[in-house]
Amino acid sequence: MDPADVFPLLRALADGRFHGGEQLARTLGLSRSTVCQRLDALESLGVECHRVRGRGCRLPQPLDLLDAGALAADLAADGLRVELVDHTLSTSSDLLARADTLASGHVRIAEWQTAGRGRQGRHWLALPAQGLTFSLLWRFSGGVQALAGLSLAVAVAVARACQACGVDAVRVKWPNDLLLHQPPRPDRKLGGVLVDVQGDALGPSAAVIGIGINVHGASGETGQPAAALDDATGHDVTANNATGITRHAVLVSVLRHLAAAIRRFEAEGFAAFRDDWQSLHAWHLHTVDVLHADGSRLQGVVAGIDADGALLLETPGGRQRILSGDVSLRTAAPPIAPPLPQEASATLR
Ligand code: ATP
Repeated sequence: MDPADVFPLLRALADGRFHGGEQLARTLGLSRSTVCQRLDALESLGVECHRVRGRGCRLPQPLDLLDAGALAADLAADGLRVELVDHTLSTSSDLLARADTLASGHVRIAEWQTAGRGRQGRHWLALPAQGLTFSLLWRFSGGVQALAGLSLAVAVAVARACQACGVDAVRVKWPNDLLLHQPPRPDRKLGGVLVDVQGDALGPSAAVIGIGINVHGASGETGQPAAALDDATGHDVTANNATGITRHAVLVSVLRHLAAAIRRFEAEGFAAFRDDWQSLHAWHLHTVDVLHADGSRLQGVVAGIDADGALLLETPGGRQRILSGDVSLRTAAPPIAPPLPQEASATLR
């Protein structure tokens, strides 16, 4: 079933209280059997519902839905126009399809995005109204080459925006990830940035900046450790959004930081963000594996990034410059300590 068809049911259940089938059918103007089918569809799309005979059904916690009017009011001064939809496949694909007609600063936000794109055909998974999934169209007078490093500048803006909402532990991971960094716990992925660019080498050009951030929860099927902003506080998130982090507050903070960062990027390029990016890099000076699309890997120590945003890696064969195209970064398994020589181990005993 199309997720757009089941979203009205989600809205009807948004308060987290029990709703009987009869009442839901009346509210939605549907038959009871259609309501049942839609509940089944919701569950098959990964949304948990508690069904109790005689009481009806409810969501495990109230939904923190967005309000288009409140967003527009809070962001008008930043030169952004927002469009909020209940459901779409990909906000970035939607903006790319309309890029010729939309003005710079147009933001498309989806309460529920079901085919979010990552790099190299990977997917961004999102549960309805748990995270933020949105894209921003921006026009640049310069050419596409001048946009090298834009996704890293965006990651800095998103990390600083999340910190401004009270989650200090947000860090970046080269090239385009946001992590929750709470050592000694392993880092967990909190968000991602995907920039699609269009235009000529000499300009003008346009970028569609897609962002996904886990706020109240992350899908359990991400294939790598994932976290949400709520996890940083250690509060019980089921207790009616007890952390005080709202999707509205995070979205407004991110879009404000983003608009300011892009204007600075236009004027000064990535060089203006390089030091901040490095200070936020969770894995600076760490030993990492660079995984290539063909399965090969290169191990080295992260030495920083250059003025274009390429990763600088110290390897046994010398310093290498890694471009973000088709590689992923992973923490390297800890090196196996070489056995101590006989005399040394005797002295230590
Ligand atoms: P990697 O994170 O492996 O280096 P990447 O940065 O290219 O790769 P992205 O394209 O940014 O990855 O994001 C897609 C990947 O992120 C997916 O393959 C999945 O492992 C992970 N992922 C997808 N959805 C989420 C989510 N909601 N929270 C955390 N991680 C996710």
